Amino acid sequence: MSVLTDLIYGGSNAVAGLTEGAVKDAIAEFGADKAAIFPDTAYFCPTIYAATGVKVKTLGDLPACVDVLKSLITNQEDLGQALNAGLATAVGAEILELLKYVKNPAPYENEAGIGFVSDAIIRSLGVPLVTGDIPGVAVVLGKADNAEDLVSIVKEYQDKGLLTFLIGDVIDQAAAGGVKMGLDFRVIPLGHDVTAVIHVVTVAIRAALIFGNVQPGDLAGLLKYTKERVPAFVNTFGAIDSVVVSAGAGAIALGFPVIVDIDLGENQVPGALVSVTDHAHTVAESLNLRNIKVKAKAVSLPVSFAAAFEGEIIRKKDTYAEFWSEKNTTCELVSTKKKDEVEDHKITIDGPDIPENSDGITYMALATVIDVYGERMQADFESVIERKIHAWLNYIEGVMHTGQRNLFRIRISRDSFERGLRLKHFGEVLYSMIMDEFASVVDKCQVTLVTDPVKAKKVLDEEAMPRYNARDARLESLTDESVDQFYTCILCQSFAPSHCCVVTPERLGLCGAVSWLDAKATYELSPNGPSQPISKTGCIDERLGAYESVNEIVKDATHGALERVTLYSIMEDPMTSCGCFECICGIFPEANGLVIVNREYTGMTPTGMTFGELASMTGGGVQTPGFMGHGRHFISSKKFAAAEGGIERIVWMPKELKDSVAARLNKTAKELFGTDNFTDMICDETIATDSEGVLAFLTEKNHPALGMEPIM
Ligand code: SF4
Ligand code: ZN
Repeated sequence: MSVLTDLIYGGSNAVAGLTEGAVKDAIAEFGADKAAIFPDTAYFCPTIYAATGVKVKTLGDLPACVDVLKSLITNQEDLGQALNAGLATAVGAEILELLKYVKNPAPYENEAGIGFVSDAIIRSLGVPLVTGDIPGVAVVLGKADNAEDLVSIVKEYQDKGLLTFLIGDVIDQAAAGGVKMGLDFRVIPLGHDVTAVIHVVTVAIRAALIFGNVQPGDLAGLLKYTKERVPAFVNTFGAIDSVVVSAGAGAIALGFPVIVDIDLGENQVPGALVSVTDHAHTVAESLNLRNIKVKAKAVSLPVSFAAAFEGEIIRKKDTYAEFWSEKNTTCELVSTKKKDEVEDHKITIDGPDIPENSDGITYMALATVIDVYGERMQADFESVIERKIHAWLNYIEGVMHTGQRNLFRIRISRDSFERGLRLKHFGEVLYSMIMDEFASVVDKCQVTLVTDPVKAKKVLDEEAMPRYNARDARLESLTDESVDQFYTCILCQSFAPSHCCVVTPERLGLCGAVSWLDAKATYELSPNGPSQPISKTGCIDERLGAYESVNEIVKDATHGALERVTLYSIMEDPMTSCGCFECICGIFPEANGLVIVNREYTGMTPTGMTFGELASMTGGGVQTPGFMGHGRHFISSKKFAAAEGGIERIVWMPKELKDSVAARLNKTAKELFGTDNFTDMICDETIATDSEGVLAFLTEKNHPALGMEPIM
């Protein structure tokens, strides 16, 4: 037997033995009926569930899984068989990690790792992965002989926007080397035991179930999905033992190449198991093996500039300068100008710059005025560009941006200021990103940063406010009736191959990130891209929002997977879901209404299901009448479930969601049926989550849904 298969089987057999013993011990200690589940998932033990369809719920379900695991280890001299043994190791690791959760509901509490990754986090990764904002996933494990090399590799992945998972001592080495870690920084420590690697494996596996409509038990479909659609690879650091090698074989079975930093000589497997002993080449080789393309940086700064820094929080004590609308005038405005009014790449600071050597926080005014000219520029794109300022400034290491328009707050950290970050860099970033992302509509661009408080106020009053007001009026007037085109969005097809969103003025994409204006701009920017126009012709049923043109284009866009879709019904041919929806609504027949739950809410709903459980019933581009994913904003739309009676059907929402949509929802309710404070009639978890409690509340409030036609 070759050294390699020998090692794989050695590791798999060791893990199998360990798992079998641990399961026996756990059953002896807690009994077979003891619950055995991972937190915040609707997919049980995801690896076992996806590969075999078995739903592990108690310790008593595990011995049968151990038998399956053992059957995968044939000890035959054949690489394919050996890779199956690698999958056995994955199953073993999953069970061993599960047992940690059986013994302690929060086993990672005192660990420098997060352990099991919730379904909600995976759903939130959908959009950045499909847009290429996260171009790939790196799994880094082991202990580096040279910690400095490791740190620079992880920082490079971070800089390139990859999502990096750390397992083992590399966690402490990266932390000691100053790597900023956490989900927000796209560097996620999982745990120190090598078995913790399963927590990234199940992310890939659940992606197949959530987005790919892969059916539990379809192992071949699962492996095809992860190989073709999950751009992940593994880097190991330091010496590797048989367990790591067999886990690596599991990764290879899933289609993820493994790059080790020791010399494996003739035991390398081209394209799958590769030695790169010079760390200077690790990143390039890894990206190359998985064919991951990273967009070239448009701008160079004294600090990092990467999407990985988007969620970075700058605390008050670390702040050097702050531009905040509560203290000073602030605004951000993109405006279309005539050709000779714009001097390309002119960056001006009008007023004082951030002072050098100051002790406390310096508070300043800031009016950011971006003038653009382009032959194909349209006023409708101004707000699309303007909304991106938030993301772009956040990409700068040590800069935090929240809010938009005239209400925002920007903090610059002392550390980044000391490393040389200045206001002029804001101008460079904005200029470069606009010219990069909006190249097909913007020909010339200039940026003026007004810090003089008097001048900033003048910009706000005379230019920005009138423009915002005009845009709001335009948005108000944008209804599905007032336009003659809708748009498709098929961005999520890279994960959910048969999904297509239809985006209308009153119904944004279910991810919440694509409005009708965005889709229109996307089409204008790349006419052969993910958004295509649908002319509003061939109305079949106005109430349902059924159109021949919509059906035709959706059928085409989904390669025939979907023949009919309505815009306004959740019962008849509802829109499909990819999996990355912000909210899901589902019918609650007892109250003749609809329950809506957002991704962030982890508690129970009156349907007897959590968000994750509701969400697992739809996704992968499949129609599921009675359940539908949608964006937060859609809740206050006049078109929300319009075919079923509209927002009057909403009977329950988590409190946070209810509060956040209240102002807009109440306005819509007032306009549609004259009720004031409609949200006061909607139940939430602080009132009741059981159906009797909810019904009692609705009856007391005389909720309109109770008197409507039966919903089903
Ligand atoms: Fe995906 Fe739909 Fe959002 Fe497009 S609009 S990114 S297809 S969820
Ligand atoms: Zn999606």
